[in-house]
Amino acid sequence: MPKTETKKRRKKRRRYRLVIPSLEEARKNSEAQSPVKKRRKNTRFKLRNVRKEVWFVLAGIVVLLGVLLIPGAIEKSKLKKLGYNKETIAAIRRQKLAKTLIDNQYYSEYLASCIRSGTVNTDYLSLYTVIEGEKYLDDTDFLMVGRLRDKGYVEEQILNLYKNLRFVDITPLLIYDYQVLEQGYIDDCLAHPDNSRSSFVLTHNFYTPYENTYSADPNRTDMLVNKTWHLDETYEPKELTPLSVHCGASGTQLSKEAADAMEEWAAGGKAVGVSFYATSSYRSYDSQKALYDNYVFLHGQEQADRESARPGFSEHQTGLTVDVAAVGDEDKDFSETSAFIWASANCMDYGWILRYPENKEDITGYEYESWHYRYVGKDLAQAVYKSGMTYDEFWSLYLKPWSDETNRPSDTVLANSDWHNLLKSEEAPAEGEASQEGTEEAQAQ
Ligand SMILES: [Zn+2]
Repeated sequence: MPKTETKKRRKKRRRYRLVIPSLEEARKNSEAQSPVKKRRKNTRFKLRNVRKEVWFVLAGIVVLLGVLLIPGAIEKSKLKKLGYNKETIAAIRRQKLAKTLIDNQYYSEYLASCIRSGTVNTDYLSLYTVIEGEKYLDDTDFLMVGRLRDKGYVEEQILNLYKNLRFVDITPLLIYDYQVLEQGYIDDCLAHPDNSRSSFVLTHNFYTPYENTYSADPNRTDMLVNKTWHLDETYEPKELTPLSVHCGASGTQLSKEAADAMEEWAAGGKAVGVSFYATSSYRSYDSQKALYDNYVFLHGQEQADRESARPGFSEHQTGLTVDVAAVGDEDKDFSETSAFIWASANCMDYGWILRYPENKEDITGYEYESWHYRYVGKDLAQAVYKSGMTYDEFWSLYLKPWSDETNRPSDTVLANSDWHNLLKSEEAPAEGEASQEGTEEAQAQ
């Protein structure tokens, strides 16, 4: 580099350095001379700082609101996408159901309406999603779900049943063995839309009698004895009491409580001019065996099983069951007598139930028996009557011991679905089950 240039640059730098201090000094001097300007400068400085703090706080608030509000907004949007409206979404969030509904994609109009009215049972949310039209859920349905689970049905099957069937179609399943493919049963029920509490028929047979059998509890007056639940060969009722001539044929006897109830029932009939009596009552295992074997000999096993019980499976062994006949009309089928009209319409007031009603053979496993009555006690008889169910269904829903206690619904559900509540209801099944075509040749069950 030439020496002359280097000297020039140095000079320039020196000049430059000289200029800057002089400007700074001038400004300092001028500020020193003007206290107002100094104050303004300080104020500007403070405002700038305040603004920064405000912005900082505001930004913090925005972030916080974002953190707080964005998930809520996303949740609302997801619920809206599922089909819920603004009012329902508010109720969902109040009841803290959003996560469950979103995670499981639960939606139905019925579910939405129950959430809005605050009546939804959150233990059964999925069940609400398959309820449509006129159907609705109450605690008896939740009890039923517990029973179905206890029977072996899994969630998907239960939803399929509830989606397609009415309660009246589902109760018989409690008697039948577990259906691996429940759709077959559903299709059969759908093919019989007229089925009701007073008449229930199916094309296929879902009852498999005598296959999987269990011991009935002989210590209970409400015990169920049918083609699934049986008594031991040695079982004999305690306090077997002969029936008086006013209400029983010679040699008839029942357990004490049932004998008293039979006396009352017959006396109640006599008071209004109706006379009937027990032609058959307690039967031992051996006498039932002789009767059944005779049926098989005469009619073959298939027909014998429709009309008579195998030994151990007869209700007559309980000492709580009678076959009755109208005085003077013993040759007639009981349903064809005037005594039947009074006896069947009033039996529940004396603790008796018609055990094998008309058009329920697919449930009870027995042809209609207008003469066969079972003592269960007054309250229970009234409740069974009001339920419109066969005793097999009623017992399986309300009284059966649980196979697995974990399937029991909550105490609240159990209290609200207790059969005693039926006694408070005004509803009763339709009358008109009084006639029967044809006659039965014997009272053998
Ligand atoms: Zn009988």
